[in-house]
Amino acid sequence: MIYHSVYQLIGHTPLLDLDIDVPNGSRILAKLEMKNPGGSVKDRLGLEMVEEGIRQGHIIPEKTTLIEPTAGNTGIGIALAAQKYHLPVVFVVPDKFSPEKQMIMKALGAKIVNTPANGGMKGASAKAKELADQTPDSYVPMQFTNPVNPLTYERTLGPEIIADLAGQPLTAFVAGAGTGGTFAGTARALRAAYPDVQAVAVEPEGSILNGGPEHQHRTEGIGVEMIPPFFKGLKINEVQTISDDDAFAQVKRAASDLGLLIGSSSGAALQASLNVAQHLPAKSTIVTIFPDGSDRYLGEGIYN
Ligand code: PMP
Repeated sequence: MIYHSVYQLIGHTPLLDLDIDVPNGSRILAKLEMKNPGGSVKDRLGLEMVEEGIRQGHIIPEKTTLIEPTAGNTGIGIALAAQKYHLPVVFVVPDKFSPEKQMIMKALGAKIVNTPANGGMKGASAKAKELADQTPDSYVPMQFTNPVNPLTYERTLGPEIIADLAGQPLTAFVAGAGTGGTFAGTARALRAAYPDVQAVAVEPEGSILNGGPEHQHRTEGIGVEMIPPFFKGLKINEVQTISDDDAFAQVKRAASDLGLLIGSSSGAALQASLNVAQHLPAKSTIVTIFPDGSDRYLGEGIYN
């Protein structure tokens, strides 16, 4: 098959049955989102937020400047989509996030503004709003509150998983939460097809979903500073809080045992899936999401 644009390559990622020992004879199926053209689950969101912004009249092709606070992957997704409509883009990125992701955003044509690491995504969001106030013809898609975020995953990732399963049973869905869009949207779609599915959110230590104290963590892309608005009305069966050490141990193990080059949020999702398998019935099917790959974290010594 010949494809005619990079945008046709977004989505329809493989669902891989992991060849590892899972407690209770269960299996873990992972959606390999690093296969998207920009390398992450967020390519889906970048394209949807830009095209919905155009449909709603917030974005005028060849004119509007997009400004967004991002840890990087959403920025890469938006930068890809912005090329399609010739839109200038500015991303506000806290200092702590991977330099590789910032280099990729620049290669795609974006300008980067860094904010102090200790201000977190809240600081980056405030800075993005400030820049938008100073920039005529600008628009902030704002992934943290934009309803397009969960809707994107409810319309794409969830239905893809249901189609991949082709009628086989599903016991649990396990996924990390940053904005919470991937988790909330996908869980909603899966629950419509599998009403009894257990929805398990994954966070790193230092994130507040399980009530623990807020602090910095090395696991990148997941972790929340406040309860995502997308979780309103959503039944979350369990929150798994995973240490950086456990997440990075799974990253190394995935490379050495499975030939899979995954990022740290995928490592956390894998550890959480293994934990959940311990208390699920025997022979359960667990679906998880691997949001990105290790290539964009090599400089941080992800395999050291
Ligand atoms: N993993 C990685 C690597 C990410 O970049 C993101 C997005 N920040 C997530 C997980 C979490 O996705 P979401 O924002 O939809 O919760």
